[in-house]
Amino acid sequence: MNKHLKQLIDLSLIDKEIDAFEPQIEEANLQYDALLAAKNSIVNEISTLSQEIKDEQIKKQKNELHLAELSAKLEENSRKSAEIKTEREMKSLQLEEEIAKEQVNFANEEIGRLEKLIDHKKAKISELEVKATEIEGNLVGVKADVDVKLAKIDEDRKVVFGKKETLVGAMNQKGLSFYQKIRRWAKNTTAVPVRNQACMGCYMAISDKVYSEVIKGEEIVTCPHCGRLLYLEPSDDTLSA
Ligand SMILES: [Zn+2]
Repeated sequence: MNKHLKQLIDLSLIDKEIDAFEPQIEEANLQYDALLAAKNSIVNEISTLSQEIKDEQIKKQKNELHLAELSAKLEENSRKSAEIKTEREMKSLQLEEEIAKEQVNFANEEIGRLEKLIDHKKAKISELEVKATEIEGNLVGVKADVDVKLAKIDEDRKVVFGKKETLVGAMNQKGLSFYQKIRRWAKNTTAVPVRNQACMGCYMAISDKVYSEVIKGEEIVTCPHCGRLLYLEPSDDTLSA
């Protein structure tokens, strides 16, 4: 096979190998990322609950303040009742007292409701904190696993990058730019095999003439339909030689 053609095909295979590392890296990170997302969502939930508790505590304080005001008012009323002279004054005072007592009841109920809510949310936060700690513990182990996998991928990748460097170093500029021009759009199908006299990039049949050139392998042949580099699959040791 033509030396330049072999270089181009080898380069396309190496580039394909390099691209294949990306999904491997993603896959390795997947479990860790999922755990991290779960932990972050718990942290967010805790923060939302904490904010809600703060708001409810403020509401509770307002009700407590209101209660204090009401009890002061009721005290004042009982003082006033000693000085009452007319029935009308007495009725008016009684009405005031009734209203104040109703408000006291309402404020107490509201405080009780808020306290229950706050307790419930605090319990929920404790629950979530246990979960978050659990995940935190798992993260350490998973991270160690991921690091091992990533280190292995990195090692493999270095080997492939080394191969590419050697190959590119041996190629001429013309061949390289020819290759890059095709790769820009064809990506990992820059060089494709011919099967059943069809280009495996665009799946169109090629003429007998082009096919015979591909079989000979003396020239660099591109698909007349799509422009990808064509080669015959290494059924023998032509490529590994
Ligand atoms: Zn084609």
